[in-house]
Amino acid sequence: MGGQLSFDEKVHVVIVGGGFGGIAAAQHLKSHGVPFILINPSDAFHHNVASLRASVQSGFAQQTFIPYKKTFGLNFLQGRVIRIDMTEQFVALDNGKEVIYSHLILCTGSDGPFPGKCNIVESYQKAIEKYEDIVKEIQAAESVLVIGGGATGVEMAAEIRTEYPDKKVILIHSHDTLADSELLPSVREEARRVLLEKGVELILGQKVSNLDELELNMTRKGRVVKTDKNEQFTVDLIICCAGNKISSDAYKSSLGGCLAQNGALKVNKHLQVEGFDNIYAVGDCANVNEPKMAYHAGLHAKVAVRNIINSLAGKALTSYNTGQPRDIVSPACPGSSPGPLPGGACPEHLSRETSRRHPKQMPEPPQLPPFDVEEQQLCSELLPGDRAPYPISKGAPRHPTKEAHFGRLYPGSYPFGHDPELMTIGNVTMLLAMGRDDGVGQFNGFKLPRFLVIKGKSESLLLWKSWREMGQKAPS
Ligand SMILES: Cc1cc2nc3c(=O)[nH]c(=O)nc-3n(C[C@H](O)[C@H](O)[C@H](O)COP(=O)(O)OP(=O)(O)OC[C@H]3O[C@@H](n4cnc5c(N)ncnc54)[C@H](O)[C@@H]3O)c2cc1C
Repeated sequence: MGGQLSFDEKVHVVIVGGGFGGIAAAQHLKSHGVPFILINPSDAFHHNVASLRASVQSGFAQQTFIPYKKTFGLNFLQGRVIRIDMTEQFVALDNGKEVIYSHLILCTGSDGPFPGKCNIVESYQKAIEKYEDIVKEIQAAESVLVIGGGATGVEMAAEIRTEYPDKKVILIHSHDTLADSELLPSVREEARRVLLEKGVELILGQKVSNLDELELNMTRKGRVVKTDKNEQFTVDLIICCAGNKISSDAYKSSLGGCLAQNGALKVNKHLQVEGFDNIYAVGDCANVNEPKMAYHAGLHAKVAVRNIINSLAGKALTSYNTGQPRDIVSPACPGSSPGPLPGGACPEHLSRETSRRHPKQMPEPPQLPPFDVEEQQLCSELLPGDRAPYPISKGAPRHPTKEAHFGRLYPGSYPFGHDPELMTIGNVTMLLAMGRDDGVGQFNGFKLPRFLVIKGKSESLLLWKSWREMGQKAPS
């Protein structure tokens, strides 16, 4: 998308929520010259993909907050939406303001315990202090319990042991297998192995039974933790990484009839909230049957903005086809060199996607051997300029075309050598940063070599991409 268009003065798009979906929608509207306002309770975009690193590394948090004003100027309004009036077409804020809309994009996302999420703080300077505080709490603790062995808990435990190898770290998880159920079994097993290699103690198949009595994120010697299997142990610090919920406060009183059970908004294939042709839902708060991920939020935003523009131009609306291969491989990253993935997608767009395999889809392939020089070269092309895995030999080696090469590496990647009918969103990818020096994940349904996950996500956690998209320079 791109190119300025002219619009009727009545057109005014209101975006509620400035997470991954909200900033993507704002950028698309801005690039088309569509009048809009972005409303968010805090003054900066929080790159929560990097929030766990910010919890263990002093000075890092400042890279994870990107102020809205610098990018969007007067198109940003700080405040929390508490109500939507669909008859008069305005949103009401907690500070008494009302903002008229012609079109509404709801992207209020989800909320959960700090430090994975940090939605309650109004100023990003305060939020940075909060992260600096948790770094100190972790430093002061000799033992830490991480509750929840989903992706967030796995990453949190790995981050702590990577930065502080002498601390005792326990991860407790109510299931027997770690990380997301949609990941390949081999990837989940590898996550477990990496945690054990790092020295994390695992308590699987058990729940903390006295959570209500335990103060989180504060170091105090010898806290007694009890489990539902009558085990008991003591730790100094407890960090909860479970229990994210959809943030529905902005719309639940007004759009109550459109809510799914989890509080997400029911949408049609154009991402319009059921029953409303000028209200769209994007990202985690849209009830789309797919993993809740930053990457998907960005794709939703693009469809919603396209449909607003199409509806104003009297053109047919586009559909968001979850499960279509193009959802996985498009769009190409603006500003990055097109990688060899179909559609020009870059690996950073694929982080934390998960698998849902088509019944006819090919079985899990064997683990790939380490990359040779040509493969390293290919990886370096997939990654931004300064991120080549290691020095690549200078002479231009003869190697197959990128496409054929990638097809060999990842034979399931659409459209090489396999019937696109058999490809689903399941072929995809989730990258888990296991500290800055390790990572596990899958791409397009196939397990990735660890070094590629490290280069693709674990080292910089994709922060550079958000700063670039916001047109700002990250603090060093
Ligand atoms: C620790 C962690 C690591 C993750 N890692 C990855 C990863 O590697 N890759 C990946 O793809 N995904 C990852 N995810 C998931 C990803 O962060 C979410 O899918 C993504 O943030 C969803 O974007 P969103 O815009 O829908 O919502 P959010 O990012 O949750 O943003 C919602 C925004 O709306 C605002 N808001 C809420 N209520 C209101 C209101 N009433 N009025 C105004 N504004 C409001 C919030 O303050 C917030 O700023 C991770 C999540 C966590 C917690």
